[in-house]
Amino acid sequence: MALPFLLSFLLLFMAGDANNFPDLEYDVDTALVWKCPLSPDNNATVLYRDKDYQYVASSQELLNKNCTFVSNMFQLLSPFDELKEQNEAVKSKNVKRNVFHHSSWFKQYHNLSVMYDWYKSLAHEYSSNVAVKSIGKTIAGRDMLAVVIGTDSNQPAVYFQCLVHPREWITGPMCMYLTQLLARADSSNNILFSLLQQYQFIIVPVANPDGYYLTWSSYPKYRFWRKNLSKNKGSSCLGVDLNRNFNIKWGKHGSSSNPCSDIYHGDNSGSELEVKTITSYLRDLPNPLIGAIDFHSFSQEIFYPTGWSTALPDNIQYFKYITQWMASAVNQNGRHTFTVGQMGALYLASGTFTDWLLTDDFINSNKDKYGHKYKPIPITVELPPTRTVPITGFMVPPDQILSICKEMTPAVIKFISLLKKTTL
Ligand SMILES: [Zn+2]
Repeated sequence: MALPFLLSFLLLFMAGDANNFPDLEYDVDTALVWKCPLSPDNNATVLYRDKDYQYVASSQELLNKNCTFVSNMFQLLSPFDELKEQNEAVKSKNVKRNVFHHSSWFKQYHNLSVMYDWYKSLAHEYSSNVAVKSIGKTIAGRDMLAVVIGTDSNQPAVYFQCLVHPREWITGPMCMYLTQLLARADSSNNILFSLLQQYQFIIVPVANPDGYYLTWSSYPKYRFWRKNLSKNKGSSCLGVDLNRNFNIKWGKHGSSSNPCSDIYHGDNSGSELEVKTITSYLRDLPNPLIGAIDFHSFSQEIFYPTGWSTALPDNIQYFKYITQWMASAVNQNGRHTFTVGQMGALYLASGTFTDWLLTDDFINSNKDKYGHKYKPIPITVELPPTRTVPITGFMVPPDQILSICKEMTPAVIKFISLLKKTTL
């Protein structure tokens, strides 16, 4: 979720003290958490360094916005024990077995290598229909994996992406859950089986492998890392926010030119290896992409474009139709209630993945074998909890993983079912 850190940046920037800003949100031992109302129904959490307490406590910006001090970050972290997977080697041996015991698999989080092993085991087991391949490398040399379900590349493609923002751990299991559901679907499941006859499914389960690795390897200090691990020229602060780096209104509203900011947009549009990999992979697909869901957390919202402005996409009625059906599908059965809206109407974010899918840059390459162009339907889903909880919203307790994945699934199926295979 971009909002808390966007707000923290704005608040400090507006207070005229941007120099206090560098790397504050990662110093979890000393970071202070504030809760600030954005509207009567919405709160954002704002982090400040411990040593800035006096400054922020008297900040007119915080006072004007009725922000309240919540806690020290460290106190928020301590009640949770997310990391049950201490022994990678032992767990890796169990990966194959767990492909077939998905309910236990979804009772805990998994680190990058175990997650990758699981995808490879799944592809091996369902090799007639599922393939996993590396589509590129990160700056640290880690693979970016893509999973393809379905062998007919004449069928239109539907794309899911998770863990662009590494701290949003709940999105990792979401992609795994959808992948195993689609991989295992047979004629006993009419809806999924029918969708598999019509589409090829493509999943990039960890869009930011370096960042996700860091959230485990340097736990808890970097549990809330959001960016990749690029070195930034002239700064000791690492990382670029990948979801501000795409070539769509790059460097505009809702992104930062400060390399220490959590929403740093990078040196150039599309400068990051992960972004280059995803964009060239999707441009080069043999089949047209007609729908995409980019999973994030947290706030329980389903967003349609546009993110970089409040201008509505020209097919807004269709976007509203499809997202409202998604919300009713999840809200009908789930414990969590999702709301629907335009991303830019809530907070502006330029350079996002979902906006890029609507650019000529992508659409001109998004063709079927006859050369017909397609305009995809890109949606951003923010998984639970709601925005009203503080920073612990990134730490969904492991015993909630399976129920969140299960309750979101009908919305994803509804999304796919309502996609139109129409050319431009
Ligand atoms: Zn996110």
